[in-house]
Amino acid sequence: MARSIAYLRPVANEPVFDYAPGSPERKELKETLTALKNEAPELPMWIGGERVETGRLVELQPPHERGHVLCHYHQGDETHINQAIDAALAAQKEWRRTPWEDRAAIFLKAADLISGPYRAKVNAIAMLGQSKNAFQSEIDAVCEFVDFLRYNAEFMTEIYEDQPSSPPGFWNRMEYRPLEGFVFAVPPFNFASIAGNLACAPALLGNTIVWKPSYQTNYIAQLYMEILHAAGLPPGVINLIYAPGRVAGGVALTHPDLAGVHFTGSTGTFQYMWRTIGENIVGYRSYPRIVGETGGKNFVLVHPSANAQEVVTALSRGAFEYQGQKCSAASRAYIPSNLWDKIKQGLLNDLSSFTMGSVENFGNFVNAVIDKAAFRRITGYIDKAEADGQEIIAGGNYDQSQGWFIEPTVIIAEDPKYTTMCEEIFGPVLTLYIYDEGRFDETLKLVDETSPYGLTGSIFATERSAIAYATSALEHAAGNFYINDKPTGAVVNQQPFGGARASGTNDKAGSKMNLYRWLSARSIKETFVPPTDYRYPFLSME
Ligand code: NAD
Repeated sequence: MARSIAYLRPVANEPVFDYAPGSPERKELKETLTALKNEAPELPMWIGGERVETGRLVELQPPHERGHVLCHYHQGDETHINQAIDAALAAQKEWRRTPWEDRAAIFLKAADLISGPYRAKVNAIAMLGQSKNAFQSEIDAVCEFVDFLRYNAEFMTEIYEDQPSSPPGFWNRMEYRPLEGFVFAVPPFNFASIAGNLACAPALLGNTIVWKPSYQTNYIAQLYMEILHAAGLPPGVINLIYAPGRVAGGVALTHPDLAGVHFTGSTGTFQYMWRTIGENIVGYRSYPRIVGETGGKNFVLVHPSANAQEVVTALSRGAFEYQGQKCSAASRAYIPSNLWDKIKQGLLNDLSSFTMGSVENFGNFVNAVIDKAAFRRITGYIDKAEADGQEIIAGGNYDQSQGWFIEPTVIIAEDPKYTTMCEEIFGPVLTLYIYDEGRFDETLKLVDETSPYGLTGSIFATERSAIAYATSALEHAAGNFYINDKPTGAVVNQQPFGGARASGTNDKAGSKMNLYRWLSARSIKETFVPPTDYRYPFLSME
């Protein structure tokens, strides 16, 4: 029962550990990696707070070490999706009535557990499961997820505090109800933090969730579930299921109690979901909220006045960190002819110094791509570029003998609308178009019109007028726009993330805007002394 008006302490972004040689965090992480390599746990689903094992075990390997068994997960089917929906609906009544302080405390405690005692294990599992090096894992699986958990609690209180005015004699209130029904949370493989946030953000606000991670993140999702249980999450609030997307989607997307979809992944999958919901629209109890952050074809536009070395570093990091498997990764760049020689030399120097291999060797900047399907898709683009006679100035080789390794590859496109300038590849492939330094205006138009996406993009320039001009001309080309910075690395509460056009609904994860989608407000008006006569004064005769 509420007998106080509580405040949260101010939130700050989680500090990023650097894992430098000799640091205690590096030692603990290495020991945890070794320990996990000697286990191969069986991962259950969690439905209504119960472990669910089906006996249909699917093996997962580290993408960089195909010969090693990391874990097995229990594969579910339609029955389990239905059970998870029933459990979510059953948990709803009590959870939506749970005071916000208790809901917030659970997720804030989970954040502290990840930031503290679970940090090494969270990192080690994301490193082995997603082939992320220590830094990539730290900024994602630990820091970004902790930031989501803490800031969302703060955003929730800011939303709750937003109340209408009340003239004398009345009390108007806004009640921020959770949605009626369950939320279907469906994340991609590439960010553990997104996997966690898609379930936790709506749950924090009082919704109950059916959570179906991408199979490659089943291990880290299991650990997050363990942490949420340790933090006191009641049974049935988040139900973790392991099932192929089309199986889970087949049941959840057509269920009458579907209240919302919280999705991040490819544009094709999202369009399928939206279409399915549209086709079934007469069958739902409410109109399902559809939130989806999807693909991108992110650009770096370089003005002739730019600093070449800054561009080189932005491209080396922005295109190739985590093997280019970031929705925000730079994958097309427009280089003015006056800077090309310097940029080319700088890029070649950087790429020749990259080392590629296992995440267990901390010297490796580049690791493996996520799985066989990704390996085939990405290498298909490289092979096509070669067959089409495009110039490949770096990389171009790949090797699947130990893991799904693809060299960071740079293609020079003669045609600015060549395939790899337009389509999302989602791998370590960067395509450059060298434009005549006198044709900046035409190039701006090209950047805007080349792809259907609108996720992230950068302008590099030292001339302020060029920066202002590009910022305006590219208004709709990117939902996250960077000036003299790489187009990746958005931080919660600093650069709320999302794009429009084919890149999604732009509901800005890591901001209040996203949380509003999981609420259905109720206006409450209370009159203290209600009138007792229907007649208004104007009705009286003079
Ligand atoms: P994907 O679309 O293949 O899969 C995403 C999720 O959807 C997975 O959990 C998958 O199992 C599930 N799924 C697939 N078919 C389904 C169906 N019919 N019904 C229900 N669920 C289904 O995407 P991915 O390969 O995991 O991730 C890469 C994509 O995600 C890229 O396009 C990338 O740009 C995008 N992404 C976008 C953002 C963003 O914020 N905009 C962030 C990360 C990733």
